[in-house]
Amino acid sequence: MSLSSTLYAKAQTLIPGGVNSPIRACKAVESEPLFIARAEGSKIYDVDGNGYVDYVMSWGPMLLGHADPVVHAAAKAALDNGSSFGAPCPAEVDLAEKITKLMPSVEMVRMVNSGTEATMSALRLARGFTGRDCVIKFDGCYHGHADAFLAAAGSGVAVQAAPGTPGVPAATVAHTIVLPYNDLEAVKEAFKARGKEIAAIIVEPAPGNMGLVLPKPGYLEGLRAICDEYGTVLIFDEVITGFRWSLHGAQGRYGVRPDLTTLGKIIGAGFPVGAYGGRRDIMEKLSPCGPVFQAGTLSGNPVAMAAGLANLLELEKRDYAALEKRTGELADEFAAIIRSKGVPVTLNKVASAFTMYFTDRPVTDMAAARTSDGKVYTAIYKQMREQGVYLASLGYECSFTSFAHTEADYDLTLEAAKRVKL
Ligand SMILES: *Cc1c(COP(=O)(O)O)cnc(C)c1O
Repeated sequence: MSLSSTLYAKAQTLIPGGVNSPIRACKAVESEPLFIARAEGSKIYDVDGNGYVDYVMSWGPMLLGHADPVVHAAAKAALDNGSSFGAPCPAEVDLAEKITKLMPSVEMVRMVNSGTEATMSALRLARGFTGRDCVIKFDGCYHGHADAFLAAAGSGVAVQAAPGTPGVPAATVAHTIVLPYNDLEAVKEAFKARGKEIAAIIVEPAPGNMGLVLPKPGYLEGLRAICDEYGTVLIFDEVITGFRWSLHGAQGRYGVRPDLTTLGKIIGAGFPVGAYGGRRDIMEKLSPCGPVFQAGTLSGNPVAMAAGLANLLELEKRDYAALEKRTGELADEFAAIIRSKGVPVTLNKVASAFTMYFTDRPVTDMAAARTSDGKVYTAIYKQMREQGVYLASLGYECSFTSFAHTEADYDLTLEAAKRVKL
């Protein structure tokens, strides 16, 4: 038995499902998880000593690659001065300044510890700012596991959502409206019915959690216009897209300014950091300068702040266009290889991310994403893993590249893809 299997068996007796986040259990791809011993550059190594070209990259954060030497040097230097103070530290000011310079719409920012905290807090702030309760989210967009977002679409356009999981009271999602992504008419209809109650629209500007889906031309601008008309706060959840779609996020790339932005994943370079920020007049409603409460014992952690800052400074020196070009070529070739085996593939790609859907439909929302053949993905996942390529353990995810991926990695990946039997 492999060491991974032994650890998994033991973990299942101690941790529910053996994992600290469900997707890691690899259930959707009918596999057991690999336990990872270490990672460097584009590679991860399991406890049995097998190396893999990594396209998960910790689900997005590791844009520079694993164990980046500059980020690690900064984190180690900070750690030598202590790991937490519960008091302000210089690095959080530097990181806040860097974020406000990079993200076009962010005038002020508050640090938290995860993407979930960022979206949960941004929603509270939007509600406090507007004095309204309702929030619109879109089917297939993921905003972390705060109760208000764990909602499934109700049976009409402007009606309240149903709880998305046991443990979420119906009352908690009574103010959540779930609509299809990329459908401006549905949003307009909801606003006609309940516009004056809607505190916020929260949206992944280019969703990465139903696989990768791109906004239709005019969609984000349309959301902006509706929010302006009704005094609703537009929240871009840039936990995936921030600093990856461009150094200036999806908002920089698509040229639409949200009122609030949530950040996570890349911002901490692998440390547990999230942040939310935006318009000064809204952010100043936060305690202690305003009435809306939000706090965190470990928020602005000095080690994480130092790592995050070093990460962004390093990313500023990198060639995003070249990475996008190379990632796109890889994705095109990968998709062509799978198509040559007689399977339909719809490829969505942007920046350093791509998703293959095994369907002949264009994928612009969750309903279309659901037509992807999960059995094909499972077969690809398993056979690629056996050949040293680590893909996401669910078909509705992005594959991510990094600045550390090499030509040799891409060659190995495509050669492995050619050997996949479907
Ligand atoms: C991952 C993710 C979150 C949640 O972040 P956590 O750090 O896992 O809590 C929120 N929004 C989006 C868009 C994400 O991809």
